[in-house]
Amino acid sequence: MGLLSVGTLALDSVETPYAKRDRAIGGTNSFIALAASFFTKPVQLVSVIGGDFPESFLAELREREVDLEGVQVREDEKSFFWAGKYHDDMNGRDTLDTQLNVLADFDPVLPEGYKDTEFLMLGNLTPSVQMKVLEQMNDRPKLVALDTMNFWMDIMMDDLKALLTKVDILIVNDEEARQLAGERSLVKAAQAIVAMGVPYLIIKKGEHGALLFYGEQMFFAPALPLAEVFDPTGAGDTFAGGFMGYMASAPVINFETMKRAVIFGSALASFTCEDFGPDRLLEITRADVDMRAGQFLELVRFDLKQSLPE
Ligand code: AMP
Repeated sequence: MGLLSVGTLALDSVETPYAKRDRAIGGTNSFIALAASFFTKPVQLVSVIGGDFPESFLAELREREVDLEGVQVREDEKSFFWAGKYHDDMNGRDTLDTQLNVLADFDPVLPEGYKDTEFLMLGNLTPSVQMKVLEQMNDRPKLVALDTMNFWMDIMMDDLKALLTKVDILIVNDEEARQLAGERSLVKAAQAIVAMGVPYLIIKKGEHGALLFYGEQMFFAPALPLAEVFDPTGAGDTFAGGFMGYMASAPVINFETMKRAVIFGSALASFTCEDFGPDRLLEITRADVDMRAGQFLELVRFDLKQSLPE
């Protein structure tokens, strides 16, 4: 079916309690593209990079049939740059630096071949850019997902709220949901966000899993307990890419399909945490992903009835 994704292709400097890496591959679209490519082809990217973005990573994307026609290259400018430092428990992080660089005046232009794609991922990026992408589609895609973060809520809340009425599903983490809704309780926050006009909502809770809301229905997926979380950067984007990639490959769009998509997104996100940036995603195969999704089933499978010993 194919997926179109708009997001950042970035250079990240990340510090965790285990290690530090400067100007490595990052950006929402890097993770989304790799994750979605396990399920659907083509994955079409809309983004902008400077002359400093590594060609080797673009080659990795092309190898996975990721279409880069919608990626603008500005040779004389710098790519979007983000720096963050994780807390000792790896659950929280502080943003140390955000340099928009090429993103500051990014005007996305969709290639003709992108305008009829049926699944659209509006990856975390300036809300006005996300809106411009949606407006260039020929028809309303079958499913539109939106990711965002506190950075944009702080400076562009009105643009963000306008977008919420035009998408099918919002994917945010717990703190972002609380900030958007102005509610501490996640259930109340979910109700308030749905009232803003978005029918489906996913709230990611890091190592505590993810919640999917639709009307009165709720589904919970755990996160796979990992012995060592090496670098969680991009886990949220990997989740979103895996979720939407799976949806694009599925025959029907409904709550049941979304439950499976949440599990596949969670399985992929667990891989991302095992190494720096997208490194682990570059090593694994579809069989690894399926096997890990199976581990999620085992993790929560139990029998309500006591079975008697024979
Ligand atoms: P995640 O860990 O899933 O929240 O995503 C981390 C990625 O988001 C990093 O690779 C950053 O390059 C990227 N990022 C950080 N801040 C922003 C921002 N304000 N807009 C878009 N992408 C961002």
